[in-house]
Amino acid sequence: MSRAFFVCLCALFCAPVPLPAQEAAQEAAAAARVAGPVYMIEGKGAGNIGVIAHPGGAIVIDAGMAASAAGVRATLDALPGGGRIRFLVNTHWHSDHTDGNRALGQGAAIVAHDRVRPLLARPQSLMGQTTAALPDEALPSVTFSERLTLYAGDLPVRLVHYAGAHTNGDTVVYIDRYKAVHMGDLFFNGLFPFLDIDNGGDIESWVRHLDDIVSKLPADARVIPGHGPLASVADLVAFRNMLAESAEIVRQRIQKGATLDQVKNAGLPLHLEPWTHGFMNTAQWLELVYRSLAKN
Ligand SMILES: [Zn+2]
Repeated sequence: MSRAFFVCLCALFCAPVPLPAQEAAQEAAAAARVAGPVYMIEGKGAGNIGVIAHPGGAIVIDAGMAASAAGVRATLDALPGGGRIRFLVNTHWHSDHTDGNRALGQGAAIVAHDRVRPLLARPQSLMGQTTAALPDEALPSVTFSERLTLYAGDLPVRLVHYAGAHTNGDTVVYIDRYKAVHMGDLFFNGLFPFLDIDNGGDIESWVRHLDDIVSKLPADARVIPGHGPLASVADLVAFRNMLAESAEIVRQRIQKGATLDQVKNAGLPLHLEPWTHGFMNTAQWLELVYRSLAKN
C-alpha cells in the first residue's frame, strides 16, 4: 500500500503523548499510553504499533515500515523491557505493518495467522505497486489458524483470527486485563478503509465480525486502530456503522441495476463525507464496496 498515503494519514491524525524518557532519543517515534503496560506508537506513515511492555521482553504488535524501525526501537528502549522484543505480531500481511519485520524481528518470534506467511514469502502486487518478498528471517516463525495466547509475564495476550474482513488473514489482539485491544486494519479510526478484496477482504463479513467484537468489549475499552488516533468503543461503533451504511447503499443500487460508474457517481450522503481522505476518497471507497458485494 502507498507509503505517501500513510504519511498523509499520520500527519493528519496522530496525537502523540511523549514518554518522559523519550526526549533523549533523537529519532524516537511518539508513543501514547493506552492502559497499564500497553502503549501505542503512532504509525509514522504506516500502521499503528502496539506495545505490551514487560521486564522479561516486550510483545510488539505490527512492525511498521523498515525506514521507521530505528525510531520505533528508540521508543521501545524507553519502556520497561522494551530493549528486547520477545514476540512480534503481524496483524496481517500489508507492508505498512510488516516491512519492519527484518529490523524489529531479530531475536523475536514473529507471529501471524497461517495465511500471512505465504503472502510475505512471495512478491505481491497491491494497488499497482509491487511488494518484494521478505527474507526468511523476516517471515513469521509461528503461525496459527484461529486463536493463540502469548504471555508477557503472567499477562495473557490473546490473538484471534477473523476470516474475511480487511483481508483473509486478519488478527485482533486482546489485552483483556487492561481492557485494551489492537484491531489491526479491522479499524481505520475516522477514515474510509482499504479493503483487500483480492486477498479475501469482504465488507459484509467485516461488519459481522465488528458486531461480534463490539458485543464482547467492555464499554470503556481502549481501542488501538490500524490507522488513525487511539479510539474508544464508540469510535469503533461509528466505523462499523459507516461500513454497514455504505454496504447497504451500494447493495440497493446494485439491486436496481446500477453500474459501477453509476454507483460511484451517485456518491454517499453528506454525513459520510468526513470519512473521506486524500488517498481513499468517496468514489474509491464506493468502488471497493461495489467490488466486494459484486463478488458475492
Ligand atoms: Zn492493511
